[in-house]
Amino acid sequence: MAKILIIAEHFDGKVEDSTLELCKAAKSLASALGAEPAAAVFSKDGAVANEVAKYIPAVFSVEDANLEKYSADGYTAAAKAVVESQDVKGVLIAHSYYGVDFAAKLALALDCGIVSNCNKVAVEGGAPVFTRNTYNGKIQENKKVKTDKFVATFEKGAFDMEAAGGAGAVTKVAATIGAVRTTVKEIVETMAGAVDISQAKVIVAGGRGLKDGDKYKDVIIPLAKKVGGEYAASRPVVDSGWTEAARQVGQSGKSVTPDLYIAAGISGAIQHVAGMKGSKCIVAINKDPEAPIFNIATYGIVGDLFEVIPAMMENL
Ligand SMILES: Cc1cc2nc3c(=O)[nH]c(=O)nc-3n(C[C@H](O)[C@H](O)[C@H](O)COP(=O)(O)OP(=O)(O)OC[C@H]3O[C@@H](n4cnc5c(N)ncnc54)[C@H](O)[C@@H]3O)c2cc1C
Repeated sequence: MAKILIIAEHFDGKVEDSTLELCKAAKSLASALGAEPAAAVFSKDGAVANEVAKYIPAVFSVEDANLEKYSADGYTAAAKAVVESQDVKGVLIAHSYYGVDFAAKLALALDCGIVSNCNKVAVEGGAPVFTRNTYNGKIQENKKVKTDKFVATFEKGAFDMEAAGGAGAVTKVAATIGAVRTTVKEIVETMAGAVDISQAKVIVAGGRGLKDGDKYKDVIIPLAKKVGGEYAASRPVVDSGWTEAARQVGQSGKSVTPDLYIAAGISGAIQHVAGMKGSKCIVAINKDPEAPIFNIATYGIVGDLFEVIPAMMENL
């Protein structure tokens, strides 16, 4: 049976959340296409492959000293070997720094079409249709590939994470990795210990309407704690140093899809909306009734956030 193959991401022996999201995506796409979900894991010794096998029925493991660290050459050669050893219909890759680095190279090696930065996939007439934001998130476009096989990259948070369950089988695949033309000299964590807001179920985001960093801390953080969520921000808040970059939502920040997104003092610029419009329920608080954020809000509160939020806190 044809396979929908994900390329697992892992770092320091730990399976990344993006891999669990792709497992979910592969399962639903494979079931709609009458195919089987599977994962490819590239590593030095195969230990991570056993871990990934907890989430998906079939794992193909390529093990080579040259795959100890990520490289575009290594991952492309390994992925090509897995695709050629199996009946693979499509390859799903995380739209991460690594994923965007090798996805197009893999599509070229497989001589197939690629759709990058997707946030949804459906099946129409037996073929996958990929959805992605375009024009800074102002509109969404649907894309199909013309080739039989495809490669697609998915934004983080586009799918829920697969929960563990059932032990999948791990099959080793031989691959000639060849020369890797890049050397990783050092990995510097610039945001060590940073929060990952892309998985939060509830987010309270503050914008420039907060006026200054102290008010952001006094108003947004307590509300986020009260509703059991994470606090986040628009870009001006991050640029002004009121909170850390890992909490920025939008085109140049994180994409989030929580159950509840409270936007306070945020105008709703397209670059911000691009990162949060997939939220299930959006509550906007803004004193300007014409603020664009109200166009996408589920509930809109026209008012001064310094009066509205204390009233919410009191009633919660
Ligand atoms: C290439 C590029 C990438 C970008 N990436 C991002 C990104 O990732 N994320 C992002 O957020 N932006 C991004 N931006 C910036 C974006 O264009 C906007 O400038 C930004 O989103 C505006 O932030 P804001 O809504 O907090 O501020 P503003 O647009 O200044 O809005 C402040 C809002 O607060 C309201 N307000 C003021 N006082 C109160 C009050 N007391 N009570 C209630 N409401 C009040 C005002 O009515 C206003 O609507 C990007 C821009 C570019 C060009």
